[in-house]
Amino acid sequence: MMKIDINGNILELVVGDITTLQTDVIVNAANGSLLGGGGVDGAIHRAAGKELLEECKQIREKQLDGNYLPAGEAVITSGQNLPASYVVHTVGPVWNEHDDGQDDVLSNCYQNALELAVTHDASSIAFPSISTGVYHYPVKLAAETALQTMIAFLQNHQFGQVVMVLFSEQDYAAYEKVLHDLVG
Ligand code: ADP
Repeated sequence: MMKIDINGNILELVVGDITTLQTDVIVNAANGSLLGGGGVDGAIHRAAGKELLEECKQIREKQLDGNYLPAGEAVITSGQNLPASYVVHTVGPVWNEHDDGQDDVLSNCYQNALELAVTHDASSIAFPSISTGVYHYPVKLAAETALQTMIAFLQNHQFGQVVMVLFSEQDYAAYEKVLHDLVG
């Protein structure tokens, strides 16, 4: 575990299962349908119970007029049976080595999730490594964007605690190295 102070806030890296985190908010790396999928999305829906899917369907119908949630954007539901009070669902970019705008899209995922947490009076949030599973974003590049976005946000807010939850020791090591390089 690595834990650092940024402007009075805590930024932590841990290895674990995000569905067990007791932060106010956990973030889901969803797909645009919001109707569930594999990876962390499947794990969150299984742990939260079927009412979470109902909330997501309502958002699709009412907030998104039946459309998919675009990459980089985020919506919020309750946490249902999870220890967390809220789930922010965001859609990461699918990696494409010929597209150079993806870091902005990935950054928007983190930024929009943090802003939704603030508007819901949350003071703690946990993120998975968005896009680095089936969306194949390279972990080192994703870590740079994720951590830079979090650090810039914490430098400008009195938020509380941000936890980056890595699902393997290998991903943890990649994020740890990037964080060391960013904070010196
Ligand atoms: P994406 O489609 O955005 O790539 P994935 O769910 O496939 O999303 O993968 C994102 C990351 O989440 C991967 O690093 C994967 O190993 C990790 N992951 C899968 N299950 C969990 C979990 N229960 N808790 C935390 N991270 C998880």
